[in-house]
Amino acid sequence: MPHALSSPFVRDQLALRARRINTHAERGAGEYVLYWMQATHRFEDNWALRCAVREADRLGVPVIIHQGLDPTYEHASDRIHSFILHNARELARRAEQRGLHYQFVLRRRRDDDRRTVDRLAARAAMVVTDDYPTAGIADRTQRFAARCACVVLAVESYAIVPSALFEKEEYAARTLRPKVMAHLAHALEPVADATARVAVPDALWHSLEAERLDLTGDLAAEIARCEIDHSVPPVALKSGRTAAMARIRRFCGGALAAYDERRANPVDDDGSSRLSPYLHFGQVSAGDVARAAIAAVGRAGAERFLDELVTWRELSLNFCRRNARFRALDALPDWVHRTMTAHAGDRREAEYTVEQLERAETHHPLWNAAQRELLATGVIHNVMRMYWGKSVLLWTPTYAAAMRHLIQLNDKWALDGRDPSSYGGIQWCFGKFDRPWGERPVWGTIRSMSLERAYKKFDAAGYERRWNGEVLAL
Ligand SMILES: Cc1cc2nc3c(=O)[nH]c(=O)nc-3n(C[C@H](O)[C@H](O)[C@H](O)COP(=O)(O)OP(=O)(O)OC[C@H]3O[C@@H](n4cnc5c(N)ncnc54)[C@H](O)[C@@H]3O)c2cc1C
Repeated sequence: MPHALSSPFVRDQLALRARRINTHAERGAGEYVLYWMQATHRFEDNWALRCAVREADRLGVPVIIHQGLDPTYEHASDRIHSFILHNARELARRAEQRGLHYQFVLRRRRDDDRRTVDRLAARAAMVVTDDYPTAGIADRTQRFAARCACVVLAVESYAIVPSALFEKEEYAARTLRPKVMAHLAHALEPVADATARVAVPDALWHSLEAERLDLTGDLAAEIARCEIDHSVPPVALKSGRTAAMARIRRFCGGALAAYDERRANPVDDDGSSRLSPYLHFGQVSAGDVARAAIAAVGRAGAERFLDELVTWRELSLNFCRRNARFRALDALPDWVHRTMTAHAGDRREAEYTVEQLERAETHHPLWNAAQRELLATGVIHNVMRMYWGKSVLLWTPTYAAAMRHLIQLNDKWALDGRDPSSYGGIQWCFGKFDRPWGERPVWGTIRSMSLERAYKKFDAAGYERRWNGEVLAL
């Protein structure tokens, strides 16, 4: 039996997942609880929405769900806007079916009015939003909470196991794994979601916002009018929960049973779940994915997959939550700095600017193929993503430049970029979560990965042929 929203299970989870961002009280005359949807773009398995509904029921008011999109986020582009807007269209449909009041406001130009959330908050009893350490969301929430006159709660839905349970920065996957796995079964217990007891009066809904976007309209035309980077085009991947759930079903009914083997082949399109863009935007929850995987092949059968989905993903979250320097070299262990200093003067086989890297103009066809996969699809297969990241260390004058370039390329072009796993993955290339290995030129004692050796491990030539044939829109 799923837990009810009013159950002790949900109360205990929220005690771990929700935190106050300011010290204000609820506004006594508040007309509703506002859920400001920033990171978790779904209604299902959404702890912030659950929190908003519980608080609304306690206060005897309804819930309003607001999502906005500005042109000012870092690397704002057609690619990211399009993925968000197409999901919003589906959300609007689902909201109607479920009796939820959801609105989307698109701010097209940088100098357009930007205070929608402030206006909504001015009439709210409290504001609930998503707790998310990256993509500028934590900073935006802090700035908003400082000027908001009622209580602001931020609630985490990213992790299956609440990250508040792990108060310190974990050292490696092996230190987090046993702890997170011990809590997994309990954390995956299902919850029956419900709408708030008090309905939104029509008059209130109509009085709220004149600028709601008509999501049934021409979204490409809307995006064209936005003051964003139009040189990063949308990708073919279909956005939205329906598409994500279809992918989960396909993966769980197919490659999951042979994940350990098939995930190692970048030419196997279905060898891994390819869910990272959906997970990044919260269109599905990691819990949805884990429950489906366990239902399909059992917990033991899904162990290797759960290690990625839970241990590695939540290690990245722990890292970004517990280390404010997650985009900087400072986050690396001391041994990395020592070895990089010792090898700073080593001769590089080539040196490239970030623009050359971006245009896939290196001497190595396999690396160029990975970069082209990123440009064309917004992701790189996991195996090639490791080679892609590690190689940049070899081709830049300093490891500081290498990290800057990787963050820039990933944040700008990856549909799953700006995620905790983005910074966890990039930092891993530089030795984070790892140990020193044998000493080599340029690499020092950082674990090396040679593109040449990739040809012996999988059909690298096939991967090259596939992506180097892509016509680039640059
Ligand atoms: C240089 C570099 C950059 C990366 N950038 C990103 C990024 O921007 N966004 C991102 O989501 N992941 C990133 N990763 C981690 C990993 O490459 C992707 O999560 C994975 O390739 C996504 O493919 P998939 O959905 O088929 O994964 P699957 O193998 O099907 O795994 C399921 C899910 O588990 C999570 N996961 C899998 N591997 C990892 C990992 N090593 N670390 C953390 N989470 C993991 C992802 O959410 C993934 O969707 C990066 C890794 C490296 C080395």
